[in-house]
Amino acid sequence: MSNDSTAAATSERPLNFLEQIIKKDLEDGVHTNVVTRFPPEPNGYLHIGHAKSICLNFGLAETFGGQCNLRFDDTNPEKESQEYIDAIQSDVEWLGFKWAGDIRYGSDYFDTFYEWAQHLVREGKAYVCDLSPEEAREYRGTLTEPGKNSPYRDRSADENLDLLERMKNGEFEEGAKVLRAKIDMAHGNINMRDPILYRIRKKHHHQTGDKWCIYPSYDFAHGQEDALEGVTHSICTLEFADHRPLYEWFIENLPVPSKPKQYEFGRLNLNYTVTSKRKLKNLVDEGVVESWDDPRMPTIAGYRRRGYTPASIRKFCDMIGVTKSDGVVDIAMLEHAIRDDLDKNAPRAMCVLKPLKVVLTNYPKDKTELLSAPGHPNREDLPERELAFGHEVYIDQEDFREEANKKYKRLVLGKRVRLRNAYVIEADEAIKDDAGNIVEVRARIIEGTLGKNPEDGVKPKGVIQWVAAHDCAEFTVRLYDRLFTDPAPDAGGKDYMACINPESLVTLQNCKGEKGLLAAEPEQGYQFEREGYFCRDAKAEGLVFNRTIGLKDSWTKEENK
Ligand code: ATP
Ligand code: MG
Repeated sequence: MSNDSTAAATSERPLNFLEQIIKKDLEDGVHTNVVTRFPPEPNGYLHIGHAKSICLNFGLAETFGGQCNLRFDDTNPEKESQEYIDAIQSDVEWLGFKWAGDIRYGSDYFDTFYEWAQHLVREGKAYVCDLSPEEAREYRGTLTEPGKNSPYRDRSADENLDLLERMKNGEFEEGAKVLRAKIDMAHGNINMRDPILYRIRKKHHHQTGDKWCIYPSYDFAHGQEDALEGVTHSICTLEFADHRPLYEWFIENLPVPSKPKQYEFGRLNLNYTVTSKRKLKNLVDEGVVESWDDPRMPTIAGYRRRGYTPASIRKFCDMIGVTKSDGVVDIAMLEHAIRDDLDKNAPRAMCVLKPLKVVLTNYPKDKTELLSAPGHPNREDLPERELAFGHEVYIDQEDFREEANKKYKRLVLGKRVRLRNAYVIEADEAIKDDAGNIVEVRARIIEGTLGKNPEDGVKPKGVIQWVAAHDCAEFTVRLYDRLFTDPAPDAGGKDYMACINPESLVTLQNCKGEKGLLAAEPEQGYQFEREGYFCRDAKAEGLVFNRTIGLKDSWTKEENK
């Protein structure tokens, strides 16, 4: 395979450090084919941090003509479930990636792991330890002091094999025994101080049922899963750097069929956001949000429902790049990515969030017209829109005032404004209810102003959106905003539950939109002119639009400073 033909080699940006490593490995013949994997634990929905890992792992495989596996790292049945497995698959597919072959499960390899544990025992490299968790902690030592050998460390191989078998058969209580590797209790890296390989957990597993009552630790599973699948580059986040010596120790000391290598990159942290499945689960469990796919959640499913496109998330992951250090990314960058995508691709529509009726007194009651408007200002491939026009229209309450100064470029009594894609109108009278609220405006159209300025030379002050009363869509709009008010909601152990934005969801009923919106497909995004980007909610009954993002881009503003 020629690397020059690969996407990374031809793309304009420089290769990131992982691409450089892989390119060199291929050139040097260390590998002939690249295999990566995305290994989520099915204990929650995927969040935006996982999107970075997905784009990276699948992207590297794509770039170098290799393959990427989707493997569930399911060694801890207590917190895992089929719901999460299904959601994760659907998220990866939605992002536009295709895994190689079937879905894989760490639990597919449990038999092999058990044989390998026996192998280590026979080699004198693992033992069954009876220390309680508290005792084990004492024996482990600290960052500055070495640990002490467990009194059970020198059991014979035969005794260990027997105890291990009995652990597997369920003869001991949870916590009574563990299997540990025999490495070095004085090792400078605490992960190497006789780490745990197996724990007793009498728990039902979503894949293996009740077959096992011992489960391997993450460390005793992950690298071996990689080796069994022929993964060449096992890419994980920085916090696993300290586990790498152990990863390598297992690869060296077990009869593995291939020798993967672990590489670490900086995880994605976003301001105004928490990216931890545990904390996100808490938001769901406490009812702060409606569900894992609530459009305020930083989950892939949440972004999807909010109206983000797969392309925008992939673009964002590309923009932030891949480095060897952790940092905090400004959420405005993610917002920029979706705004930019929708600006270029979303059809336009007119919507009135807070309708105010305008009666056009000189327009015949029984007359209607069909006007048209472009689907998008510069996308001729998007179909033209049909706009009904008649005697009564709705405009937004914000777009009318009885009096106003010159800065107010909307409808004012005695003044003119253009109804976008339609006539210029002039307001004559405001009708009020007993409480003094304006409930209706009386106005006139200025004849001959479709696509033209008034012949009398009195130009309209501005352009506002409107919707015909006799033929329109009526719907609910959910205005979403950031979920947290604090830019670092969980930094330094802060209570992220204490800085929830009380205005993160504002629901507006009886909004009006042009009639074409009646046919909006679920998840279809629109720019509601002058209001922002919205998409049709895929779950709600009836017509509901979720605000994806407002029109103003604070990220490009920052950039241009
Ligand atoms: P969480 O802390 O939210 O539970 P996790 O790392 O425990 O996340 P896993 O399911 O184990 O979740 O993660 C699957 C993959 O996604 C791992 O390779 C992990 O390194 C990567 N990943 C998780 N969070 C991030 C992040 N914020 N940025 C980049 N990659 C991430
Ligand atoms: Mg984890």
